Amino acid sequence: MSDNDLLPNRNLQTEDWIIEACDAGGSAFALKGAKKLHEAQSPFQKVEVYESEQWGNVMLIDGYYMVTGKDNFVYHEMMSHPALYSHANPKDVVIIGGGDCGTLREVLKHPSVATATQIDIDQEVTIASEKFFPELCDSNNDPRAQLMWIDGIQWMADAPDASADIIIIDSTDPIGPGEGLFTRPFYAQCMRVLRDGGIIVQQSESPLIHLPLIKAIRQAWRDVGFSNDITEQFFLPSYPTGWWSASMACKGDNNWQAKRDCDVSTRYYNSAIHNGAFAQPQFLLEAFSQ
Ligand code: SAM
Repeated sequence: MSDNDLLPNRNLQTEDWIIEACDAGGSAFALKGAKKLHEAQSPFQKVEVYESEQWGNVMLIDGYYMVTGKDNFVYHEMMSHPALYSHANPKDVVIIGGGDCGTLREVLKHPSVATATQIDIDQEVTIASEKFFPELCDSNNDPRAQLMWIDGIQWMADAPDASADIIIIDSTDPIGPGEGLFTRPFYAQCMRVLRDGGIIVQQSESPLIHLPLIKAIRQAWRDVGFSNDITEQFFLPSYPTGWWSASMACKGDNNWQAKRDCDVSTRYYNSAIHNGAFAQPQFLLEAFSQ
């Protein structure tokens, strides 16, 4: 993977469009009506929120689209339910990143979940989400939820052995503070923290333009002892190319078929979507058979 694969996206905002140009893919995504509602510069990143004309409020981090009011449900449901429904009894769930709290909300829909610990490096993200995306934060006061604002790398290094069933890495791209969340040392810590049968999930960018990264993630997981690695896919218009993915692997044996019908309230995920998301396009099959 060359350095060019992860060139920073330029945010070429004009007075009535937010245009995010993705140099790695030679593509761009634009939303009409860019009334700025919020801006905060933290020690880690710049957080902006705009009001778009038809996509609700939009959050950008360092000029990258993170959340839109219109399509975030697909991402948050697909970062949580496929893994939780692929585990026999997910009780303790860890979310690294996820500061907009949408993934946390989905995780807490599962009655089997006893604790959901969200560790984001930047409290500014959650402050902005609570103000401009309150619907994503309506589970933040669930007694099972714990929200922390420290580096997920440090938190994982300090976490006890065999203390989690699911680890969801809902981070920014592998640059800046997110870079260390895509490395073997971090994955080795995740392996140690997961119980037998545990599942690791990571947002793994676009299969169309980031296949080298997906291959690197899954190879690193194999190197530290994970098995059954796979990549699920879903459409997400607001992310580069609109074709997005989450990759998963297990500590021990597992399969990716849903253990039961979807019995939590969703707008996108269901049992058919679960199976469909794990169907592998031919180029992915070939990429991982070598
Ligand atoms: N949906 C987004 C995507 O796919 O790019 C991710 C959403 S979420 C807002 C990404 C979060 O990762 C941010 O809130 C950021 O602060 C957090 N993050 C980045 N590096 C981190 C780290 N080392 N530890 C914990 N959180 C981190």
